[in-house]
Amino acid sequence: MLVAGTVLRTTLQTAPSIQRPNAGFNMSKFKLGVASKNELQGVHPDLVAVVKRAIELTVQDFAVHDGIRTLAEQKKLVAAGASQTLDSRHITGHAVDLVPYINGKLRWEWDPIYMIADAVRKAAQELNVPVRWGGAWDVDFTASTDSPEDLVANYVARRRSAGLRAFIDGPHFELPKATYP
Ligand SMILES: [Zn+2]
Repeated sequence: MLVAGTVLRTTLQTAPSIQRPNAGFNMSKFKLGVASKNELQGVHPDLVAVVKRAIELTVQDFAVHDGIRTLAEQKKLVAAGASQTLDSRHITGHAVDLVPYINGKLRWEWDPIYMIADAVRKAAQELNVPVRWGGAWDVDFTASTDSPEDLVANYVARRRSAGLRAFIDGPHFELPKATYP
């Protein structure tokens, strides 16, 4: 969960070019840990499949920080300003938060978040699963072709030009309600 104030600053920076994994190879460097696997329990199998493929493709290690959430947990997050809705896709098992794991710590930083988003999109395309990303809520992320950093910058610009606040949540991926009610 990222609070808009902290992220608007960083979205304007130019991210370094993202290293792409070699197509055709399965040089899996990373594995989901026990805590990550536990977080995936109860999550929709299509999203679990995307996460499992993404950890094989990613150049940036990540942990599943949040899968299923109870309504009580969600209420706490809303009270803390870390989420805006009680109607969260986490409660129904349709969302995961994938947070960069760097030197043994979870890091909410955009450059590694973009690398993870890149791997998630690649996995979603391979598995033909529509995914909605918290970095650009109004975009069909699986079908998109712009870099994740451009998607975020354009989303923020769209919201601003509409006079709206941009709540962006880079680690958040969900199955869209239209296809997964
Ligand atoms: Zn989330």
